[in-house]
Amino acid sequence: MLLRAMALYLLLLLSLLNLNIISSLGELQRLEHPIRADGSLSALVIGDWGRTGSFNQTDVAFQMGRIGEKLDINFIISTGDNFYENGLKGVDDKGFDDSFSSIYTAKSLQKQWYSVLGNHDYRGDVIAQLSPALRRIDSKWLCMRSFILDAEIAEFFFVDTTPFVMHYWRNPGHSTYDWRDVAPRDTYIANVMKDLESALKESTARWRIVVGHHTIRSVSIHGDTSELNQLLLPILQANNVDLYINGHDHCLQHISDMDSPIQFLTSGGGSKAWRGVFNSNRDGLHFFYDGQGFMSLQLTQSSVEVVFYNTNGDALHKWSMSKEPLSAI
Ligand SMILES: [Zn+2]
Repeated sequence: MLLRAMALYLLLLLSLLNLNIISSLGELQRLEHPIRADGSLSALVIGDWGRTGSFNQTDVAFQMGRIGEKLDINFIISTGDNFYENGLKGVDDKGFDDSFSSIYTAKSLQKQWYSVLGNHDYRGDVIAQLSPALRRIDSKWLCMRSFILDAEIAEFFFVDTTPFVMHYWRNPGHSTYDWRDVAPRDTYIANVMKDLESALKESTARWRIVVGHHTIRSVSIHGDTSELNQLLLPILQANNVDLYINGHDHCLQHISDMDSPIQFLTSGGGSKAWRGVFNSNRDGLHFFYDGQGFMSLQLTQSSVEVVFYNTNGDALHKWSMSKEPLSAI
């Protein structure tokens, strides 16, 4: 009995030490997703969607299913604001089924979803939305704060952008934000930036893609997010990031950075849209669609192709780019 108790104590001590080592290194959690045998991958990207099917959410879901099958997608990325208006109330909130499992029913969408949180998710029980209990209800669901998805030719760096935005802390209005495990803000975002920067510096992937909820550049109602421009963008520009993908503005847009090769891609048309706001900025705007839709992303070692679709599944805008093939040494 004594031996058993000592063994348990030792195990507990080791696990505590292990946790400490992980947190002191401050590394972002890393997930891996296999890609096709030919070294290519494709994914769909959707944001700002969970409204129990209303505001054309089901139409978008239907077309995602169709395009997802055609492209034989590997996974799906959600750019946040997953559950309106106030996230999930708990792990047993029926909104999870009404806005997610019962909506994205097409066979091609029964792939792994990789999600970040949006500001509306922070108005609910964030711990519930991040909980593995939801994965036991629907295994395709996965939501984390900041993490890395290693997909061989590409690394996706998911960043929890809501805590960056000072407005939510200082002027929450009638909303309550769930800052558990986040406050104090300065320490939290300093750690996120440090971890992201070191992960980007260490990355050897062909493509470096950063995913967050908030805009860096946008011509729609929310416009640019000044905190991300000030704090996050310099890290992306200094570390050869190819794409920054976001939601938050309920539209589809493609903007080129004037100071680096970064492309800003907004896929926030998962349900309610048509805000009727357009404010041009100094950046290179290629495409803006104020309505509902989603985006596809196709990658090989030497090419990237992005396509935006509306609720009819029409391809509204295509953009592609090539990189020199790796020399076979
Ligand atoms: Zn948002």
